[in-house]
Amino acid sequence: MQPHDALVLQDLYHDYDRLRAVDGVSLSVKAGEVVCLVGPSGCGKSTVLRLAAGLETLQSGRVAMRGETVGDPGKRIAVPPERRHVGLVFQDFALFPHLTVGGNVSFGLSQMPAAARDKRVREVLRQVEMESYVDAYPHALSGGQQQRVALARALAPEPSVLLLDEPFSGLDERLREQVRDDTLRLLRRNGTAALLVTHDPEEALFMADRIYLMRGGRIVQSGPPQDLYYRPVDLFVASFFSRVNEVGGIVRDGHVVSPIGRLSTPDRQEGTRVVVAFRPEAASLSQPVGADADGLNVEVQDTHFLGTGWIVHVLARDVEDRVVKLSVRLHGRPPKAGEKVALKVPPDAILMFSET
Ligand code: ADP
Repeated sequence: MQPHDALVLQDLYHDYDRLRAVDGVSLSVKAGEVVCLVGPSGCGKSTVLRLAAGLETLQSGRVAMRGETVGDPGKRIAVPPERRHVGLVFQDFALFPHLTVGGNVSFGLSQMPAAARDKRVREVLRQVEMESYVDAYPHALSGGQQQRVALARALAPEPSVLLLDEPFSGLDERLREQVRDDTLRLLRRNGTAALLVTHDPEEALFMADRIYLMRGGRIVQSGPPQDLYYRPVDLFVASFFSRVNEVGGIVRDGHVVSPIGRLSTPDRQEGTRVVVAFRPEAASLSQPVGADADGLNVEVQDTHFLGTGWIVHVLARDVEDRVVKLSVRLHGRPPKAGEKVALKVPPDAILMFSET
């Protein structure tokens, strides 16, 4: 028998007064899977998470955990949050200040006999390397330590699914990377299914087995991180994950004519305008080329050293002969400002979208 998905959300809608915050969202988290719900601020991510947890009243749709429906207004099912077997981790950690670390972690284990409970508390604190702080109070801990205790508290009752809302945003950058890495390893080791909300594309790429990208209350694309990065369905998805160069193109004689060359296109109508895009790291610069050769002659405008490489701005001409500025990311020494060079983009790195 197929194991049930840890979490299934089916066709969720949610309005705040007249604002439609969630507009037909469906997603699933399989057992042991780490799924990221990502998107710009205000797109409805937290509302989806709160609906999954039961913290927000479900208006329309269905929420199921391990095959059991826990929310379905049509059937008058609304299991309260504390009976949904979810672990919650939020940005502000929200540890109880008057309880010790041990007290915080044992909070959700009140049903267990005392000896088993103490054992479990120590076990999860050991997993987050906080065992020696069992008697400390939250105010005496650093942000990173509080985060780890919050994680231990959420994991202690062995939830069906862990729901995390921007759990690393309160930490400074260095610590964030460390805690993120530790959290991911812990989830993997325990085989915990998790749904993580974040506005940070890099965090989603780093953490997720699968990503759901939201915009304006809807899921615009979902799949493994590399699918969204390399095969974005539109320019919004492409530019959400990294900077992209955008140039116009027009279909002529069965090909797209664009500033970066003549490109083949699957049956687009003659005269159609398209957006041609590529990432700065996908392009290369070399010696200028003759008229018939591949590549586009451009002029270097300026260069910027980034430590890990260089950003080179070059000026090209679009199909209407207007000057367009493009960015190229290089690892080696860049050409100098004013130099004429050839810009090349491998065909498989070229993204093409219909103009909207
Ligand atoms: P995200 O997590 O992606 O930032 P939210 O789910 O928090 O998005 O919010 C989605 C939209 O709903 C936003 O426009 C936000 O202002 C609005 N919103 C969120 N919570 C409430 C609320 N309790 N009352 C009214 N509007 C809300």
